[in-house]
Amino acid sequence: MSYILDNESQLEKAVLKAKKIRTQVRFIAFGVYSVRGTKGNFYTVKCERMPSGEKLVSCECLGAEKGLVCWHSAAALSLHIGIARQRVEVV
Ligand SMILES: [Zn+2]
Repeated sequence: MSYILDNESQLEKAVLKAKKIRTQVRFIAFGVYSVRGTKGNFYTVKCERMPSGEKLVSCECLGAEKGLVCWHSAAALSLHIGIARQRVEVV
């Protein structure tokens, strides 16, 4: 399940939760991350930018399947934004 990030308040809540949990985010490839869940399992989160400029995020967890902005996505997105920014600077 993937969704377009257009709900800022939902994302903010997810970011706060991600910070609280202090999870581990693994870098797989640019835009692909593995986020550790609370039970020690890992979820793959994909972040991409649509040609229209919207951010598209997908996660394997049940919350994302219900269309919620899950904290895994938020954790992966924080890392992704940091990397994307660095890339721009390098180029
Ligand atoms: Zn998730």
